[in-house]
Amino acid sequence: MTDTPVISWRDEDVRGFGMAVGGRAQVLRPTTAEQVAAAFADARARGKAVALRGAGCSYGDAATNNGGLVLDLSHMNRLLDFDPATGVAVCEPGVTVRDLWRRSVAHGFWPRVVSGTMAVSMGGAAAMNIHGKNNFALGSFGECVRSFDLLTPRGELVHCTRASAPDLFHAAIGGFGMLGCMTRLEIETKRVHSGRLRVSAIVAKDIEHNLQILEDMRGEADYLVSWLDLHGKGAELGRGLMHRADQLRPGEDPDGLRFLDPTLQDVPPNLFGVVPKGWLWPGMWAAVHVGQVGLVNWLKFRAGFTEARNSPYLQTHGAFHFLLDYVPRWQWMTKPGGLIQFQPFVPKAEGARVLRAVIEKSQAAGHVPYLGVLKRHRPDPFLMTHAVDGYSLAMDFAVSARKSRRDSLWRLCQELAEIVLAAGGRFYYAKDATLLASSFPRVHGEGAVAAFRAQKAKWDPDRLLQTDLSRRLGV
Ligand SMILES: Cc1cc2nc3c(=O)[nH]c(=O)nc-3n(C[C@H](O)[C@H](O)[C@H](O)COP(=O)(O)OP(=O)(O)OC[C@H]3O[C@@H](n4cnc5c(N)ncnc54)[C@H](O)[C@@H]3O)c2cc1C
Repeated sequence: MTDTPVISWRDEDVRGFGMAVGGRAQVLRPTTAEQVAAAFADARARGKAVALRGAGCSYGDAATNNGGLVLDLSHMNRLLDFDPATGVAVCEPGVTVRDLWRRSVAHGFWPRVVSGTMAVSMGGAAAMNIHGKNNFALGSFGECVRSFDLLTPRGELVHCTRASAPDLFHAAIGGFGMLGCMTRLEIETKRVHSGRLRVSAIVAKDIEHNLQILEDMRGEADYLVSWLDLHGKGAELGRGLMHRADQLRPGEDPDGLRFLDPTLQDVPPNLFGVVPKGWLWPGMWAAVHVGQVGLVNWLKFRAGFTEARNSPYLQTHGAFHFLLDYVPRWQWMTKPGGLIQFQPFVPKAEGARVLRAVIEKSQAAGHVPYLGVLKRHRPDPFLMTHAVDGYSLAMDFAVSARKSRRDSLWRLCQELAEIVLAAGGRFYYAKDATLLASSFPRVHGEGAVAAFRAQKAKWDPDRLLQTDLSRRLGV
């Protein structure tokens, strides 16, 4: 008799955040690194591939494994240590951005890099090397990771820092869960002197104006992000509302110290203090399904003029960063087909031409994104980086339940990808569902792909770690 632990995987539907891709998988939720190691051994014994999954916030198939095994790390969620003097946190991988700021903000620290939702996990944030609205200034999430422990599929636990294991450190961050499971991470946060930011809205009349504002302000602003109404055409193509936010200096906002109370940072559960926000998505569903998205975008754009006139104003960090968390389950408005996001990263010199072409082509194809978000980026030192010295435009497309229309959206995205890649652009796998395998070396360059495959062969020679994304791209 052996005392091998009994591992019971559960059959579940595992989809991307956008619900449009994914499928049935056997899921396990370990609570310790030992259980992860045992799960790897069990998967190997069964001859099955395993996908790592954090909070499941990647829009596409980065954390799904149709017909295979999924290790959901959301139950490894202990925040092991937080140093109130330095702002350095030590976390298990399932600790979320929300868990982190709830611990840090009372001590006057805020995570250096956060995504548009606070639900993402530390493991998922590092494995995708996420970016925030300050990517142009502070860089990517990986740049605030001091160290991590990587449990490889063969059961080795490797402590990685920039100095001790530089190649593995720079390949596993941004390596979309292909080299091992991060079981413990050491993360730096940044000092804040108020629980609020000074926010200004600026109306941008077209895409060129938006890009000009990004260039004019990026030397001084802490955060810049523009919402785009992608229904605008001709002279109004790429019109939108830029938001600039700046941290407040010591003493600049005496009342702001009160907002370092974590309960004042969370997004409120009710609209106007009364209507539960969980009830809002059906109204949004109606707007999507009766073709009123253009009108909603136009109204939002017009409302921007008032907001710009009333700027600047003070807003909590939580309210500024996590707008998308205001309406729980908002993605359900795209049911039954779901949604995909397409986020090209374009070098600065090609920005206006490529983004204009991408928007025009989507409009001409009759697939107008219901949401567009423009950001400024800077390069980072990670092997599988998606960053460029330039811009990204995240475009959210509702997916039709009709196969012919779904197929035509996939074709459109592949054609748009051609325009982006020909201009030296890149893609971000947290936001992808449509790229072809032939695009993988074009995104990163043949050299980087060869180096990544060498790391994969070294740490996971049996290719135990796979996802629907990694198979689609032929990683
Ligand atoms: C509403 C919304 C807004 C968003 N806004 C932004 C944004 O502003 N900027 C941005 O960059 N992204 C954004 N994202 C995308 C999101 O930040 C990324 O997809 C992130 O990776 C999600 O983290 P997760 O914990 O959900 O990971 P998952 O989506 O579950 O997994 C992501 C990847 O990480 C791997 N992984 C997970 N855990 C581990 C681990 N412990 N060790 C090794 N690999 C692991 C998985 O295999 C997978 O490849 C947004 C997503 C949503 C839903």
